[in-house]
Amino acid sequence: MQETAIIIGGGAAGIFAAIACAEANPSQKVIVLEKAKTLLQKVKISGGGRCNVTHACFVPKDLVQFYPRGNKELIGPFSRFQPADIMEWFADRGVDLKIEADNRVFPESDQSQTIIDCLLMMAESAGVEIKKGVAVSDIKNEDKKWQIKTQEGDYIANKILVAAGSSKKLWDILKKLGHNIIEPVPSLFTFNIKDPRIKGLAGISLDNAEVSIANSQLVENGPLLITHWGLSGPVVLKLSSWGAPALADCMYYFPILINWVADLEQEEVLAAFTEERVSNSRKRIQNHTMFGVPLRLWKNLAQHVGIENTHNWGDISNKTMQDFANEITGSFFQVSGKSRFKEEFVTAGGVDLKEINFKRFESTKLPGLFLAGEILNIDALTGGFNFQAAWTGGWLAGHALAGQEIE
Ligand SMILES: Cc1cc2nc3c(=O)[nH]c(=O)nc-3n(C[C@H](O)[C@H](O)[C@H](O)COP(=O)(O)OP(=O)(O)OC[C@H]3O[C@@H](n4cnc5c(N)ncnc54)[C@H](O)[C@@H]3O)c2cc1C
Repeated sequence: MQETAIIIGGGAAGIFAAIACAEANPSQKVIVLEKAKTLLQKVKISGGGRCNVTHACFVPKDLVQFYPRGNKELIGPFSRFQPADIMEWFADRGVDLKIEADNRVFPESDQSQTIIDCLLMMAESAGVEIKKGVAVSDIKNEDKKWQIKTQEGDYIANKILVAAGSSKKLWDILKKLGHNIIEPVPSLFTFNIKDPRIKGLAGISLDNAEVSIANSQLVENGPLLITHWGLSGPVVLKLSSWGAPALADCMYYFPILINWVADLEQEEVLAAFTEERVSNSRKRIQNHTMFGVPLRLWKNLAQHVGIENTHNWGDISNKTMQDFANEITGSFFQVSGKSRFKEEFVTAGGVDLKEINFKRFESTKLPGLFLAGEILNIDALTGGFNFQAAWTGGWLAGHALAGQEIE
């Protein structure tokens, strides 16, 4: 009888695994069960509709630094299939990719549909059978065979890959089968803050700010953006990712400190102010920003420590000057909630990585059960890393399903 591999989920990891499996072992039947009517829905909306396919970081030990969860475990897999490999894979199939200045990789067309078209064409030519609108409701393992329940009837397979993304249903099924599931929480979100210092400043950005979460080890540097709701930008997204479980625990209500001029210490700012008071005592403080702080933000920060728009450098006391230096290098804000970052968001949590053989992305508890993509407790910063984890897991699991192990 022909061997059958069943893949649950027609997203990035599932479709890529199906192609890899079918191409590696054409004699094996590969079926994808997808509950939605369309495949690769997240690819379609990803990267603002452009699909940030991967990140041009080609050294596994550097690449894993972008994965708050999965950094240890992905070193081996990335040495077998990494960004250079997925870029070559698409290039070989006629999809031109480009590396942008920040190393994010996109299709030259700037259309996620280009990626979808390529994947679907490859799946078809490899003979992958795709069943859309088929939701898996249960999985059983009997007599070394997998029985998969759907509303359309049961499927039987020798090996299965669960690539159902952040699916509560599948996590519950896997839990019932004996897997430990790390509580899923959102990652990659922006901070909601209501504060007069940033009110009306939406759109203003800083090239390099340092944001730390008070009373924690969580601190990041990078570009910061003021939004209508609070704060966003790479520095905030990085914090939301590294801090995902801790920030969920405090229900997204936590204090932060911002150094608006990350390259400077408080003493350096104070020294510059002291100098200013001596050399430019008649200069209006609010009218002339320093250290590249955007002027409207500078005015608001000055106002906050009691510096009025009529004050010159010569008018303020040592204490006010000290308060202003503290404000520039350590503004205290209260975060009270989170908002979705529309370009990319993921879930932290999922199947416990201790229960996975990362050479094959196979369960160590249930041989013949493979897991790849967001179903695992792997997630990364924004920038193409999340898809890379899906391609890598899909590639290795797909080959393992085909009976091959990549060295
Ligand atoms: C708006 C947005 C933008 C993003 N942009 C980027 C980006 O540009 N770059 C990047 O690296 N990452 C991006 N990501 C993250 C990336 O999309 C995910 O990490 C990636 O899609 C995970 O792939 P996956 O195959 O594991 O899961 P998914 O893509 O979620 O696929 C899982 C599939 O399983 C199906 N499924 C679920 N339950 C069942 C069931 N019971 N039976 C059958 N099928 C089922 C789902 O319908 C789905 O099609 C973005 C995410 C979002 C939400």
